[in-house]
Amino acid sequence: MLVAILKEARADETRVALTPDAVKSLTGKGAKVVVESSAGLHSGASDGDYEAAGASITGNRAELLATADVVPVVNALPEEDQEKLKSGSVMIGFLRPLDDPAALSAAVKRGVTLFSMELVPRITRAQSMDALSSMATVAGYKAVIVAADHLPKLFPLLMTAAGTIPPAKVLVLGAGVAGLQAIATARRLGAVVEAYDVRAAAGEQVKSLGAKFIEVDLGGLQTEDKGGYAKELSPEALELGRQAIAKAAKTADVVITTAQVPGRRAPLMIATAAVEEMRPGSIIFDLAAPAGGNCEATKPGETIVHHGVTIFGPANIVAEMPVHASMLYSRNVSNFLQLIVKNGEVVIDRADEIIAGSCVAFGGEIVNERVTAALKARS
Ligand code: NAD
Repeated sequence: MLVAILKEARADETRVALTPDAVKSLTGKGAKVVVESSAGLHSGASDGDYEAAGASITGNRAELLATADVVPVVNALPEEDQEKLKSGSVMIGFLRPLDDPAALSAAVKRGVTLFSMELVPRITRAQSMDALSSMATVAGYKAVIVAADHLPKLFPLLMTAAGTIPPAKVLVLGAGVAGLQAIATARRLGAVVEAYDVRAAAGEQVKSLGAKFIEVDLGGLQTEDKGGYAKELSPEALELGRQAIAKAAKTADVVITTAQVPGRRAPLMIATAAVEEMRPGSIIFDLAAPAGGNCEATKPGETIVHHGVTIFGPANIVAEMPVHASMLYSRNVSNFLQLIVKNGEVVIDRADEIIAGSCVAFGGEIVNERVTAALKARS
């Protein structure tokens, strides 16, 4: 069984799907690992590191694609690469099957089995494979660090002989994995933090990190689905949230937004009018930019200044922390591979809950109902 570690094709990608540590565990299970030369360079892993871990190196990407049995990736391979894959091989990664299912068509047609890391069910047994949480942790931390660097103010309260500097005020919208990490990081830097989430359950977690939870009365509305994710809200409920946010944003120095609803456009939480009420020099860091953004004025992939407020809309913030983002992602993918690699061979038990939940395509067919629906909705 041949596992390929490729250089990511996306121009702004610095992560690598598997690090040398993962190579050791795969070769220990009887797999052969071949790495495309310089695949791990941005993540701090040289070709020599991969060789020392038991992999071999190649400069021939086309041959590697055509011979690999398992292709772990960060982002889905581009169409021209998918067309070179072997029928019956496995591609696994952040395949965005609900956002852009058509981008996987070439691989489906070739009979490649596709596993989406986004669709790994969030059950206890799959916690070590939860790549969304890994990336959210990195993103929440980095957002605060970048915002603190750009803010023309100090974060902590300082008492000096020249007078007292008050602490910066940070507002975090969405208190899931990224939001909680942002709160913890901002608190460590000495900021005063407020947070809002539509799930009431998030309130306790926010308070346990020393932040204030903004309560909004949604009249007992059910805001959480069975899986613990936020539901898509009614326009009225969204508007109530926006009003509370606009009030808190007026006095905030930094607003970090992280709110997402899986498979949907990110909810709009800050109207442009609310941005215009914020203080000049303040910052909005919109981590939901790849899903359309939580702020109406965000331009995904750009940093802009609107009415004196700097709005960051990074397309791939985790790629700015490639060493640890790759380390965590590689562990998540490696743990997933344990499920499908047995005695040096790929064995896919489709009755397994994790495999069934994350499998997008098998034997030339899309096998996930949500992906089929997403394809229909776009055709
Ligand atoms: P996410 O990235 O999908 O969304 C981020 C946050 O935005 C969530 O907390 C969500 O409630 C919030 N949000 C969505 N719409 C909103 C709106 N209109 N207004 C305000 N807030 C809004 O979420 P996530 O970080 O992936 O986590 C979601 C849930 O899953 C959390 O309860 C988390 O604890 C849970 N989780 C469970 C596991 C597990 O293994 N069991 C792992 C990770 C996360």
